[in-house]
Amino acid sequence: MKKLEQLYEGKAKKVFKTDDPNLYIVDYKDDATAFNGQKKGTIEGKGIINNRVSNHLMKMLEKNGIPTHLVEEISDRETVVKKVTIIPLEVIIRNIAAGSLSKRLGLEEGTKLKHTVLEYCYKDDALGDPLVNDYHIYAMGIATKEELDLIAEYSFKINKLLSDYLKDLNIELIDYKIEFGKTPDGTIILADEISPDTCRFWDSNTGEKLDKDRFRRDLGNVEGAYHEIMKRLLGE
Ligand code: 5GP
Repeated sequence: MKKLEQLYEGKAKKVFKTDDPNLYIVDYKDDATAFNGQKKGTIEGKGIINNRVSNHLMKMLEKNGIPTHLVEEISDRETVVKKVTIIPLEVIIRNIAAGSLSKRLGLEEGTKLKHTVLEYCYKDDALGDPLVNDYHIYAMGIATKEELDLIAEYSFKINKLLSDYLKDLNIELIDYKIEFGKTPDGTIILADEISPDTCRFWDSNTGEKLDKDRFRRDLGNVEGAYHEIMKRLLGE
């Protein structure tokens, strides 16, 4: 397969066309941003880790009945994925209060939630990815009720699969953000990435943060935390 022209460059990835009209190649970068691009930096080796970690987790999900965009990892930083149109929603699932939820509702970080929380944010940098509910999503024509029901069903199923998988590796899944895309035939599949950039991972015993919060909050040892996640998941 041939890597053709670049289609898009995001904060953490580039997407390329290929000579197969149904496939793209994503190329993971070491660039890191936070707070809607206001904080910028580099996390050495992050692109490699996120590529490998995300593919590893997507493979596990795919095996357990979640359709994903993953086709094949072709290098340390590059993966062939199915062509999708991204549905402009950040789907956020929370098991334990942290981050913006703690701020918004005055819940101390680390508070176990009595029920899993599902949130949607409308993906729009200029608006700062505002929180929206089901009705906003229907009203704006972002997804139909049937599509959103399926997205929610997948998201909860993914939560159970990921939480159980990570628990065995001594990692607590606090919360995460996922994105879905639509293939040319209209099928909704999991897209984007699942990595320390997009999840909060805390060590089950010590509560140590092993994710992008180390970068966002200047906690130090950012690279070490990303490596630790890769080591626990992939054994290297
Ligand atoms: P919060 O809303 O607390 O900032 O984030 C909740 C979860 O979703 C965290 O795991 C965070 O990493 C993820 N998340 C939310 N928005 C974004 C985003 O714009 N980019 C990335 N990489 N992750 C996000």
